[in-house]
Amino acid sequence: MAPVHSQTQLLVVGGGPGGYVAAIRAAQLGIKTTLVEGAALGGTCLNIGCIPSKALIHAADAYAQAAQGGFMGIQVDGVRLDLPQTLAWKDGIVAKLTGGVATLLKKHGVRVVPGWAEIVDGKSVEVRQGEELLRIQCEHLLLAAGSQEVELPFLPFGAGDGRVVSSTEALAFTELPRRLVVVGAGYIGLELGTVWRKFGAEVTVVEAQPRILPAYDAELVKPVAAALARLGVQTLLAHRVEGLNAAGDALTVRDPQGSLVELPADRILVAVGRRPRTLGWGLERLMLDMAGGAVKVDAQCRTSMKDVWAIGDLAGEPLLAHRAMAQGEMVAELIAGHRRRFEPASIPAVCFTDPEIVVAGHTPTSAEAEGTRHGFKVLQATFPFAANGRALSLEAPEGFVRVLARADNHLILGWQAVGAAVSELSAAFGLSLEMGARLEDVAHTIHAHPTLGEAVQEACLRALGQALHI
Ligand code: FAD
Ligand code: NAD
Repeated sequence: MAPVHSQTQLLVVGGGPGGYVAAIRAAQLGIKTTLVEGAALGGTCLNIGCIPSKALIHAADAYAQAAQGGFMGIQVDGVRLDLPQTLAWKDGIVAKLTGGVATLLKKHGVRVVPGWAEIVDGKSVEVRQGEELLRIQCEHLLLAAGSQEVELPFLPFGAGDGRVVSSTEALAFTELPRRLVVVGAGYIGLELGTVWRKFGAEVTVVEAQPRILPAYDAELVKPVAAALARLGVQTLLAHRVEGLNAAGDALTVRDPQGSLVELPADRILVAVGRRPRTLGWGLERLMLDMAGGAVKVDAQCRTSMKDVWAIGDLAGEPLLAHRAMAQGEMVAELIAGHRRRFEPASIPAVCFTDPEIVVAGHTPTSAEAEGTRHGFKVLQATFPFAANGRALSLEAPEGFVRVLARADNHLILGWQAVGAAVSELSAAFGLSLEMGARLEDVAHTIHAHPTLGEAVQEACLRALGQALHI
């Protein structure tokens, strides 16, 4: 069948946060843009990632608070979870946002082509739409195909009569699992494990490393570990997953002493990471340089082939939506002739556990290493939420804000926080790092009272030896 030909200046493969932002910005800059999306606009983030997970986290919090009752003088009788309705509410939020993306793309004149793009060469892709084959030629090809969940070969998705699932299914269980086993105590395992525990499931988390959230420092993770224990989530650390038992109704794990343990489960969520989506759409035809499993890019998101760009999860760590968006915006501007580089002072990361964790810039370890390399000492100060009025009034005294700064000139190097709603502090952290703020800049900014932000100011005051409320 002869393909139907069309031409565009910029062709974007993938309509996730990276791809759709790139397309909108390019169209704003007068670039004729076509975006091909095989599944749903909004990508992983809006459809099966950030948004539905955060919606469920909120719903589970509301339910758990109501079900717990009996505190702050509030007595509750007869709380019941209507799971289908909760899922419908979550789906409504997703639909609102994905519909918004479609509207924005249309408003800016981006041509959206539904279907799976198959790479032909660095200037053309083909998209099959029923009987028709489209061939789209472009001046610039932007690869924004995102990532996929990692599958464990000995615990494939769908095994055990559909018992073994990925995060996609765990965002849409139509029945409350009685016993949920989660493999992986990272972002997804803990965010979704907490959701289903709060909805009432018995939850066991199995982690290969000796602690949960191994990517974060131990102090930061302590309040999360304590909250999981309080909630009744069982965490099995340094355990090795072997696979399903013979009956297919339990997960077999090996404990640190080498003994086998069976964990009966009606659902097993495998959340052991995601990997760039590099297979199945002809990417190999471009023979691009790779960096591990990701497409290798430079500081402008250029690949090893001229006018072929890659952004977001496809271009490797960190696999975060806001990083994909920032790269997409930059590539659009570069194609329009602007001078840009992707050199952010920080890409804040938030783990929406209970309590939340946020990190931005250097960690204590990387700041020390930087100090050793460049010959400066590092100041470190924390301010506990137990001394913050707003945190107490939110019934959330756990956690702290920590600031790291150079001892010689007080330049802020990094931030970490753990506590209720600290995700919102990521804006202040990111801004201070991007602006090159000193401890004094934050310490002498008036922060509204009573807010969690006062802990940010107080951490800086404390680093200067001037703490007022501790
Ligand atoms: P994606 O969002 O994966 O989009 C890629 C798109 O490309 C997809 O829609 C796919 O269908 C399409 N595509 C792929 N190949 C083709 C092809 N050949 N033809 C046409 N279309 C194609 N990040 C955060 O920052 N905060 C969070 O709270 C957060 N929570 C998450 C929760 C979960 C459960 C998961 C799974 C992820 C979460 N993430 C979060 C990560 C975030 O979703 C990703 O980092 C982000 O979506 C990456 O954006 P992207 O545009 O690179 O790729
Ligand atoms: P992750 O890398 O955060 O966590 C995976 C965990 O699984 C790690 O703790 C690892 O030690 C453990 N693990 C690996 N193999 C194992 C095995 N065989 N047995 C037991 N444990 C094992 O990965 P994830 O939770 O799947 O999330 C994927 C990515 O999605 C994250 O890296 C993150 O970038 C993104 N994400 C972000 C957010 C957010 O920003 N709030 C939320 C969800 C997902």
